[in-house]
Amino acid sequence: PVRVRFAPSPTGYLHLGGLRTALFNYLMARKYGGSFILRIEDTDKGRFVEGATENIIQTLQLTGLDYDEGPGKHGKHGPYFQSQRVDLYQRYADELLKELESMRLAAQQQGKPPRYDRRCLHLSQRQIDTKMSQGEPHTVRFFSPDEPVVVRDLVYGCMRMRPSAMDDSVLLKSDGTPTYHLASIVDDHLMEITHVLRGEEWLVSTPKHLALFRALGWDPPQYAHLPLLLNSDESKLSKRSGHADVKELLRRGYLPEAVINFAALLGWNPKTTDELFSLPELIEKFSVQGLNRGNPVVNTDKLQWFNKNYIRDRIQQGRLVGDLVDSVRDLVAKEFGLSTDVENDLDGRISRAFQMAKDRLVFPSDMTKEAKFMFRDPDLNSEEARLLVGALPKSQMLRVCDAAIELLSRTSLPTPADGATVIASICQATGLSKPQVMKTLRWAWTGQRSGPKIPEILQYLGEAAAIRRLRVAMD
Ligand code: GLU
Repeated sequence: PVRVRFAPSPTGYLHLGGLRTALFNYLMARKYGGSFILRIEDTDKGRFVEGATENIIQTLQLTGLDYDEGPGKHGKHGPYFQSQRVDLYQRYADELLKELESMRLAAQQQGKPPRYDRRCLHLSQRQIDTKMSQGEPHTVRFFSPDEPVVVRDLVYGCMRMRPSAMDDSVLLKSDGTPTYHLASIVDDHLMEITHVLRGEEWLVSTPKHLALFRALGWDPPQYAHLPLLLNSDESKLSKRSGHADVKELLRRGYLPEAVINFAALLGWNPKTTDELFSLPELIEKFSVQGLNRGNPVVNTDKLQWFNKNYIRDRIQQGRLVGDLVDSVRDLVAKEFGLSTDVENDLDGRISRAFQMAKDRLVFPSDMTKEAKFMFRDPDLNSEEARLLVGALPKSQMLRVCDAAIELLSRTSLPTPADGATVIASICQATGLSKPQVMKTLRWAWTGQRSGPKIPEILQYLGEAAAIRRLRVAMD
């Protein structure tokens, strides 16, 4: 069965690149009925960032990427924090040390030139023992083989690569803690990982990893490296270019489904012109063959386009609208001095505001721009209100208001379909053009240059409030 892992180091919060790696691993596991494992690679205390582990776990939760084994979950391959597995790494380093002796002899016999000062490689066992008994700090290094290693990558294809020159990697540091290379190989083996999907930056380490697997007599997993993400100017994706950690993106109003959909298309080709995929759809469509080698460019406009789509979807389908309401309630209360009757029906009003604005929202909070008129009376002297009516003569505006009051006092509350009729009747009564009439009504009812259509505004306000606002506007 497929077993994949996401193995972040808690050296920072989870960014888009990390989320994409987690997502592809998740999709791989779900697609093939396998297991998705979260392993925290926390042996390097020096680079530890406070709160990073929690941030990673929470972000996976918020985006729906549940893992089967990992921190807080049972699993027969735990613990899932490398810091709790140090004795295991030491055990396998010892095993490698035994190998070292014979490899060293073999290399000497072949007369291979040293690639760097393998200083301690030439020490006799007696010298080693003396140094160690004197308490000299020492590390364990892996004697990298000289011949190229064949790396078969599911994304990059088959390559002959040399374990990077100059590099008999440290496996155990002088304090006995393992380095990434040793720990990840031991864990990938013990956790029975079948596929390693990880960032392209690890491709150069892969020959070394394969050599370590071979030295330990283990079968390596299959590798798939994911190309580096780029900014639109082709530079390496960085925090400075505005790509905050994923949790911060969610806090700013990006919906999890938008971020997931966006991340999925960073390096994976669905082979259709469709771009909108829910997580279950992604699972259905995903295949390793669809992973590309080209460096995906992160385009914020595209992310916003996804967000706009998913906000509209939620509102249209009445799904998770409560979450949208929750996300803006405080903002609405802060932004507008709320009257008691608004306060009493705040959630109801916010939901209706979402309904009306659903086609135009990039972020849930945009609703506060469009829906000001729903929470308080318009400020007709504001710059915005004045710009809206521009050069319309006051006398004409008064005629429109007058006719509207007259009409609304007679008729019963118009439904949205009747809104058009109301406008037409006012045009007829005043002899003014449709744009003149609509501008005036928008001004009197909202004071806003943009927002819902006139019939929707009328329906929201209701007859009485609509008349009241028209009267105020005439003063
Ligand atoms: N701990 C490594 C990282 O943070 C994981 C690399 C791997 O997946 O092997 O990127």
